[in-house]
Amino acid sequence: MPNKQRTLKAIAELSAPGTFTEGVVNIKIHPSEAGAGIEFRIVSGGKITSIPVEIGNLLEAPNRSVLVSPEDETIRINITEHVLSSLMGLGIDNAIIEVDAIEMPLIDGSSLKYAEAIMKAGIVEQEPERDEIVVDETIIVDDGNTVLMAVPSEKFIVTHYLDHENSQIGKRAATIEITPENYMKRIGPARTFLMADNIPAMVANGEVKNTDANQALVVYEDKLNQTLRFANEFCYHKILDILGDMYLTGKRVRGHIIGIRSGHVQNRELARRLAQIYL
Ligand SMILES: [Zn+2]
Repeated sequence: MPNKQRTLKAIAELSAPGTFTEGVVNIKIHPSEAGAGIEFRIVSGGKITSIPVEIGNLLEAPNRSVLVSPEDETIRINITEHVLSSLMGLGIDNAIIEVDAIEMPLIDGSSLKYAEAIMKAGIVEQEPERDEIVVDETIIVDDGNTVLMAVPSEKFIVTHYLDHENSQIGKRAATIEITPENYMKRIGPARTFLMADNIPAMVANGEVKNTDANQALVVYEDKLNQTLRFANEFCYHKILDILGDMYLTGKRVRGHIIGIRSGHVQNRELARRLAQIYL
């Protein structure tokens, strides 16, 4: 079966409050030509700065994935992983993400609003075949505690095993094939989670606002701040982040990605290894 590239049919639009910036952030995800890949365009003071999604533009940061402009290193885009995840999950190869701030809003901590805006705009096939990273050997990132690996597979599948000392999270595992249907149903709606104890430090660093309680699942010793959307929401959010971080390579991936207790640091290391080997 031909595996064609895809872009949006029309412009997807959404707005939401920022975390790093005051006020509302406005986003327009535009269709783009075949072969163009994914690009952020930061619009500020009448100036447009391009940040192509590629591994060379990745900046190491705690708790989130940040891309920096190759033209001007003071211009950065924060929290790229959730919008990139929705593009990867819905099978979009080419798009321009125009935004008037230095961040992609957290919204409710999931990718659902991004995915819904893209589905509303529609998706179209383009003529050329996809140029994917096809995993043809096992690649392992292992630091003795966390493991993240890519193994060959005809289908794009992600597995995550979460093993957390907090009993609200505990031991959970999920495996899912990455299709637009599964993305809309299970992965896109899964919200990020924060440990209540870490919030004061994150507020001090400007990573979250005190009023952001509805932008994430907050995990206390004995309760959550909100009801889970489905039982395995924690694991599916880990899978959501894996998709977004693998797209930092700028390419779709064909293979089985398996994570054990892994997070953004391991995701980015695997993305770098994939880029090194295949690009
Ligand atoms: Zn996330």
